[in-house]
Amino acid sequence: MRDWFIINPMKKLVLFDIDGTLITAGGAGTRSLNRAFHAVMEIEDAFKTISMAGKTDIQIIKEGLGLHGFSMDGNIGKMLEAYLHFLTEEINNPLKKLKPGVQETLDLLKQEGIPLGLLTGNLESGARIKLGSFELNEYFIDGAFGSDHEDRDELLPIAIQKFAKKGFAFSPQECIVIGDTPRDVQCAKVHGAKCIAVATGPYQKEELLKTNADIVFDSLAEPRGCIEFIKGHHS
Ligand SMILES: [Mg+2]
Repeated sequence: MRDWFIINPMKKLVLFDIDGTLITAGGAGTRSLNRAFHAVMEIEDAFKTISMAGKTDIQIIKEGLGLHGFSMDGNIGKMLEAYLHFLTEEINNPLKKLKPGVQETLDLLKQEGIPLGLLTGNLESGARIKLGSFELNEYFIDGAFGSDHEDRDELLPIAIQKFAKKGFAFSPQECIVIGDTPRDVQCAKVHGAKCIAVATGPYQKEELLKTNADIVFDSLAEPRGCIEFIKGHHS
């Protein structure tokens, strides 16, 4: 514990969203959900009209089931299982890629000794499948996932609890969420955490500037601004 305080004198915990922030999965998530719905419910393109950005996987699946008139009972579990099965195939596609500057940002934060975690609507196993395909899993000590709670706004305290169990004590005010949607901003701000918004997902910078994000970047391609903000020079 003492060693860790020496390497992290700023006492910050940085929690990353995944899709639109760290990576684009090349449509793997949507295709896997559609294939799962087809396998379980025999309906094609079930999620065509459902917007997914910033939502948790279970929230998205419930919207799909509701839209097509299916009950939630028993079907959510079947959908989750099928989704993860198809995701392991679909993640291997030529369109997936890291967002600009992500590798450098993660490496710089690691060098600074700042603990990194995840705050994502993905199921934990889905998150690890996606990040594993970019060899990024090792950067993230733990996190809060769509499998921990269906409501993204409940995830920050869960992340804090999980880090506390590993000996990393943080208050919400010491956490910085990095994400690409107004939902990422909200799930941080409802708890008094800071939020860095990046316009590398479906939302333009102008739209993110209208949220309560503490700072908005076009991308992480020039990581210095982001790192300086995290270190507190601009807070
Ligand atoms: Mg996102």
